[in-house]
Amino acid sequence: MRTICIVIPVYNEEENLPVLHERLVKALSDVKDLDYRILLVDDHSSDATPEVIRKLAAGDPRVETIRLSRNSGSHVACVAGIDHGDADMLMIMAADLQDPPELIPEMVRRHAEGWQIVWAVREQREGESFFTLAASQVFYWLMNRISDVKFAPKGADFLLADRRVVKAFRQMPERNISVFAAFAWLGFKQVSVPYVKKSRHAGVSKWSVAKKIKLAIDSFVGFSYLPLRFISVLGVCSATAGLLWAMEVLVSRLLGFTWTSGFASIMMAILIMGGLQLVMLGVLGEYLWRVLEESRRRPRYFVENAFSAHEHPGSERK
Ligand code: UDP
Ligand code: MG
Repeated sequence: MRTICIVIPVYNEEENLPVLHERLVKALSDVKDLDYRILLVDDHSSDATPEVIRKLAAGDPRVETIRLSRNSGSHVACVAGIDHGDADMLMIMAADLQDPPELIPEMVRRHAEGWQIVWAVREQREGESFFTLAASQVFYWLMNRISDVKFAPKGADFLLADRRVVKAFRQMPERNISVFAAFAWLGFKQVSVPYVKKSRHAGVSKWSVAKKIKLAIDSFVGFSYLPLRFISVLGVCSATAGLLWAMEVLVSRLLGFTWTSGFASIMMAILIMGGLQLVMLGVLGEYLWRVLEESRRRPRYFVENAFSAHEHPGSERK
């Protein structure tokens, strides 16, 4: 009998969880020789999510949960789930039903064929704004260009990973980790299954623009040194341009042309160079700050409580 653990980060999803559970059970009960458990990682929800989870766990022994001590973001919640999910296969999916549970049997089948990471790759995304889609396309295009990570062009955040892959993932202790970039980077035998990403079943997206920018920077800084290389190249280019300009000024002076550049051109040079230097400092800072985070060696998350109702109904596990 194969086992699968479905890790689901959950943050204020009270309305989605019962439907999600029902659809998961329906989709998974048809798969032969498969023992599954659903690990809901409550990312410190502030709505009725904990009670909803308790109810689900009371009625279904396959539902387990851990609750994080603070809202840590869905990637950290995934890391917590990965640390706690022990099975032949591990799945990561969202709680808002954007990722259809009905796709899981197909992904399990691909795993049985020998694939170690099975990505569900969105062919289409419904209910997303033009801006989100455009930003996402630029992000994945850039990632594929400048980092060690190769993603599907439209991105992916719904996957199944083999036990060996999970073991490898657990050896990466980075604090600001982009979970999906890390899986893509790990290698192994990877395959994709296409699907249509639906719009949210209920509630609103918990990802603010600021969080998305942070994730994008985590992904670049985590898997590419090109931003740093870019700084050096830009420095060389602007120094060369400055030198050429200086020579032009000198030569025209020696040849007797009077050429006064004036206030405007000085201001332009100062503003452009000043701005560039600040941006470069910012890029350095992004790397440096992450080094500091690593050196602090704080745990990535703390578990507030954990339980599976079938072991001790209503009570907590260590
Ligand atoms: N999520 C989380 N912690 C957060 C934000 C989101 O665990 O701080 C969960 C959320 O409940 C959902 C998944 O991560 O299951 C994806 O989040 P969401 O649907 O809000 O993101 P989007 O689909 O808009 O990228
Ligand atoms: Mg979503």
